[in-house]
Amino acid sequence: MPAPGNAAYLDRYAQSLMGVFGRPKAVLCRGEGCYVWDANGKRYLDLLAGIAVNALGHGHPMVVEAITRQAASLIHVSNFFASPPQIELAERLLAVAGAPAGSAVFFANSGTEAIEAAIKLSRRTGRTALVAAEAAFHGRTTGALALTYKKAYREPFAPLIGPVTHVPLNDEAALRSAVDRDVGALFLEPIQGEAGVVAADPAYLRLARELTIASDTLLIIDEVQTGVGRTGTWFAFQQAGIVPDAITVAKGLGAGVPIGAMITFGPDVSGLLTAGQHGTTFGGNPLAAAVGLAVLDTIETDDLLAHVTSVGNHLVDSVAALSHPMISGVRGAGLLRAIELSAHVSAVVADRALAAGFIVNAPTPDVLRLTPPLIVTTAQIDSFVAALPALLTGLEPTS
Ligand code: PLP
Repeated sequence: MPAPGNAAYLDRYAQSLMGVFGRPKAVLCRGEGCYVWDANGKRYLDLLAGIAVNALGHGHPMVVEAITRQAASLIHVSNFFASPPQIELAERLLAVAGAPAGSAVFFANSGTEAIEAAIKLSRRTGRTALVAAEAAFHGRTTGALALTYKKAYREPFAPLIGPVTHVPLNDEAALRSAVDRDVGALFLEPIQGEAGVVAADPAYLRLARELTIASDTLLIIDEVQTGVGRTGTWFAFQQAGIVPDAITVAKGLGAGVPIGAMITFGPDVSGLLTAGQHGTTFGGNPLAAAVGLAVLDTIETDDLLAHVTSVGNHLVDSVAALSHPMISGVRGAGLLRAIELSAHVSAVVADRALAAGFIVNAPTPDVLRLTPPLIVTTAQIDSFVAALPALLTGLEPTS
């Protein structure tokens, strides 16, 4: 009997999985490098990488080797015990984050859990008020959800923790009036990914640092989407020249294996959570930590930070060279990019791209988001850029 195709699988999906994600676009069965294949045998260039997760693409030998080696040795220990990969990954993360002596890592299993840890950290300041940005996305668990801006995500679950004040991003006056001595923490994404790749100005991040120092508020930079090389530096905050109180990390760190982390900077912040005040069964388990180490090693040995910057710039230049009336620009940094469209057609274009064998997504009506594996080549980017005019056929800019 032939293997089931997309349609047969998706019927079974609809009968057995909760409907929170809507109907998936296809059923993916295998991947290699920057390509994936669906249940009908169709090949796609994966320019989304599981939303900035598969940093080394699919089936990368370093990831496969790390999983295989570690699985054969030790997959899990409780937090009654430590493991060498857990300790080594914490040390390496502190080093690449440029964290000062006395800094610390808490391992979790996802981005939203890293944010939960940061919210609990903020509670230990003795203050409950939080500030985040409008359009922010920090996760879906009930604590993180209070920081996430979109009403449709939040309101069905009200009341959430708070008070949370959402300020317009890059509005310095609004930030000045929101951050005061009642605020436990200010949460900011250096580039808002889910909002359609919208960057915080470096000057705004520096002001955020000044204001939070002046009011003894924690500055927590959410690097879940921007971290681990995605924007061309280890972490995006490093491009603004600030030192935050904590960062949250997940996605690319595990290259597809679930992991999250909160990194606290310096002994005072790191001492806010003490023995017994937080925990998790799986966080920092040896398997996930071994993969995290393989990711950091590969980024370093293959010089992927420079590669991300150069391929990202190549994307910007080659899309600009199209001079297409339906494209108004490319924004973002490194390989976290948005192609700005001149009309609200991104969902149609993303569907056409899929049909043409390219995976991208449409986080907002006029934006195509690309978060490819950090190993994507200029030739692979060129194949997508060459396809773009056909994907935009018949669409008109909004006047
Ligand atoms: N924070 C940011 C900036 C994110 O982009 C995301 C997910 O997209 C999250 C937090 C939540 O991460 P997770 O989906 O792993 O819980």
